[in-house]
Amino acid sequence: MIRLSQLTSYLTCPRLCYYRIHFGETSFTEMTAAREIYFSLRQGFDFEWAKKRAESLHDGFDCEIFNRVAEKFVYMDHGYRSIEIDALIKSEALNLLVSVEEVAEVGEDKLPLFLSLYPPEKGVWRRDLIKAGAASLAGGFREALFYYAYTGELRRAEATFGIRKRVLRLMERVKLIQRGFLPERRESGYCNYCSFKEDCESRPETFASKFL
Ligand code: SF4
Repeated sequence: MIRLSQLTSYLTCPRLCYYRIHFGETSFTEMTAAREIYFSLRQGFDFEWAKKRAESLHDGFDCEIFNRVAEKFVYMDHGYRSIEIDALIKSEALNLLVSVEEVAEVGEDKLPLFLSLYPPEKGVWRRDLIKAGAASLAGGFREALFYYAYTGELRRAEATFGIRKRVLRLMERVKLIQRGFLPERRESGYCNYCSFKEDCESRPETFASKFL
């Protein structure tokens, strides 16, 4: 099964995707904290509940990160009705599993909703579009909603044909990585926080890895 989180890891760094698939990762990130806060507030609980929930559910819970995110989190009720919180959308045919923060009802539409931290100036991030495309492939949704935790904004994006095609290509690459292919390094600012940095720097690149 290919998971959406593997596709988004690939976008950050293909080699990071390799490490997460083959070694797992339990780090507690701002996004993990924001998700816990979102789930709790949407169900009528408060920040304290969210903190206890995060502490109980995540081995790597980091109080400092949680408090930092709680200070910045902006909660706004945009009037959409919740159908399911922390939902899984699955396509057996494509072998694809998409975890979404919520399935929401907006007017006549039922749409997957993803959480993101900051919005771009216009539209949504490319990473968000990939999420919309994956939800479209797995569950047939034509559009997706994005809630930006640090501004409280809600944006909507279409999963176009081009985006779905891009998701399928990404899935093919992730499949290769699942089979054991080690991709090349993609150095970025993320390397400073990457928990696999030491191992990554000691592993040489191969000629084949440059084609992934
Ligand atoms: S250290 Fe950098 S290049 Fe290596 S896996 Fe982590 S993010 Fe990727």
